[in-house]
Amino acid sequence: MSDNQNVRVRFAPSPTGKLHVGGARTAIYNWAFARATGGTFILRIDDTDPTRSTDENTQIILRAMRWLGLDWDEGPEVGGEYGPYWQTECLPIYREAAERLVAEGKAYYCFCTPEKLEADRKAAQERKDTFQGYQRTCRNIDPAEAQARVDAGEPYTIRIKVPDGRGDVIVHDAVHGDVTFNARELDDFIIFRSDGTPTYNFATVVDDARMGITHIIRGDDHLSNTPRQIMVYEALGAPTPVFAHISMILGTDGKKLSKRHGATSVEEYRDAGYLSDAFVNYLSLLGWAPDGESTVISRERLASEFSLDHVSKNPAIMDPKKLDFINGEYLHAMSDQEFADEVLIPELHSHDLEPAGECLHEAAWYDLLAAALKPRTTLGPQVVDQAAFLYEDDDELEYDEKSVKKWLAKAGAREALQAAGEALAALDEWTPAAIEAALDPLPEQLGMGKGKVFQPIRVAVVGSAASPGIGETLALAGKDHVLARIERAKELAL
Ligand code: GLU
Repeated sequence: MSDNQNVRVRFAPSPTGKLHVGGARTAIYNWAFARATGGTFILRIDDTDPTRSTDENTQIILRAMRWLGLDWDEGPEVGGEYGPYWQTECLPIYREAAERLVAEGKAYYCFCTPEKLEADRKAAQERKDTFQGYQRTCRNIDPAEAQARVDAGEPYTIRIKVPDGRGDVIVHDAVHGDVTFNARELDDFIIFRSDGTPTYNFATVVDDARMGITHIIRGDDHLSNTPRQIMVYEALGAPTPVFAHISMILGTDGKKLSKRHGATSVEEYRDAGYLSDAFVNYLSLLGWAPDGESTVISRERLASEFSLDHVSKNPAIMDPKKLDFINGEYLHAMSDQEFADEVLIPELHSHDLEPAGECLHEAAWYDLLAAALKPRTTLGPQVVDQAAFLYEDDDELEYDEKSVKKWLAKAGAREALQAAGEALAALDEWTPAAIEAALDPLPEQLGMGKGKVFQPIRVAVVGSAASPGIGETLALAGKDHVLARIERAKELAL
């Protein structure tokens, strides 16, 4: 794309909390856009709010970015030619920029006290003025006089001078189209507070301009800030970047995503067992679709096909069921061995079913367990409950009451267990195929339905009637354990 040459985009989180789902999606879009256009992805830490920004949050954000696999080309840890990448380190840069604007007559010192501003607002309200913003009281103070008052130590803010006759400010948004704002409504807004700190609208533009940012992709809660930011670009004499404001993420009830809907931070999803690739895949589709039908989109495809013209302006709904489905698709696409090494064994370890750092069984056993559980798993930790029966002592296995009622406490169950025990005891080879071959003839021999024969065996060995195929289940449990459990279950069977 010729108009995307030298794309420079940034993700600029404020470290006032963890990285949330909405921020993660913004980061993904910026990263994908940079990768798809051969551009540069910058990470900047917007830590100008000293009361709420912490180093700890910055570390959490960097960790989450790494887990998401969103490598940045410039920013913390990697450096770059456009530093500093922390806003707190840029205070002299903002001050210098603001003072330059004052010197050029594009901004001015304002000495109005909060009381005066409040009185002006009330007066405007009383005379039913449609404009109740700043009355431009200090706009025409003679610059030499203003400088003298500053030098004398009088408290001041710095305000931008919205040029007379500026007319409407039109934001050409790549997602929303043209959005028009009335310049007069923008007020001569403050760019530097009386405590000597820059406002968000100013610091952001100074940084975006000095970093040569070409496209600003961010949440549409910032759309209303954009006309003010355009005024700052114009005052600085810097080119205005392309804006792309992406929609909010809502919960399934249509309300803004919050704690009420469950996990909101990236690390909560990581800890719940979601795969990074699946999570990035899912978030990338909240508002973007390459073709309107694919649900599984590899990181490579995202990084080559992402484009702003396929981003929707409609709010996106975060649906945990779809996320689980996509996570399942990634798990099911793994080989049995990958599933064993990357999901199964780490989960068994982290839930203390296997001693720390050790494996109790041989590799083939884990591969078999992986093959049995993989199709039944959409989220890694689910394997723990499903495999737990393999780690119980035979005489301590707990039975699910409903399964006992339905399958063991039934006429014929004892007979089925007896026949199964005999057929299995006679086996020399203990493989799923051999086990199935031994059990297959039983329903006919006993004159019973398949369920009546196989389900009592399942309940005996697993504790409940839900398990993978009977051959795999019994093979995994081991011959001695299966026979002991069948013996024990006979006591409960009718
Ligand atoms: N630090 C700002 C935020 O987290 C950045 C907004 C922007 O992208 O301009 O909301």
